[in-house]
Amino acid sequence: TTFEDFAISEEIVTALKALRYFKPTEVQQQVIPMALQNKDIIVESQTGSGKTVSFGVPLCESVEWEENRPQALILVPTRELALQVKEDITNIGRLKRIKATAVFGKTSFDTQKSELRQKSHIVVGTPGRVLDHLQKGTLKVDKLRHLVLDEADEMLNMGFIDQVEAVIDFLPKERQTLLFSATMPDEVVRLASFYMKKDRVSVK
Ligand code: AMP
Repeated sequence: TTFEDFAISEEIVTALKALRYFKPTEVQQQVIPMALQNKDIIVESQTGSGKTVSFGVPLCESVEWEENRPQALILVPTRELALQVKEDITNIGRLKRIKATAVFGKTSFDTQKSELRQKSHIVVGTPGRVLDHLQKGTLKVDKLRHLVLDEADEMLNMGFIDQVEAVIDFLPKERQTLLFSATMPDEVVRLASFYMKKDRVSVK
């Protein structure tokens, strides 16, 4: 399998080549085709498996450049991961000129607020700060079509469950949800059964 085998645009294939990604990893081979069909997917996989590209590619493929409001939200446990995922998305979506914005705590709310006022196709953030922006109306989600819960087990370990649920309650019900987790404790399974479509698929 190569990236050309997926139903993705030339711009994304070219961007992946520029990143020197020539062959999809196992997780990417499993996740990308189903995610492109807008399926809800639970993925049990570790960091290092190539999981970021496995959701970054379908999200970038789905983004409509003309739409100014966020179309996808990615929740992550830490600031470092938010910045890393933002960079990866920016690289994958470079030739489509996709704009990703990262929001996280312990840093200026107002700087992020003005960033969110600019074109922002994909928002990556930690649950508490994302919730803060939702409650203050500085993050608009009426055009949102995709949610990714990255490192779900870590977010729960760090005590973010209430914030994660409060964030999801703001989002349109009609959306795709992708959940990534290295482990599948009961709380993650419960989160999936509560917030994902009945016909979700699981990938290991
Ligand atoms: P992740 O699991 O998303 O943290 O990715 C782990 C590492 O694999 C990152 O450094 C990526 O740059 C790299 N990577 C992701 N996909 C590929 C690929 N198809 N080929 C080679 N390296 C990749």
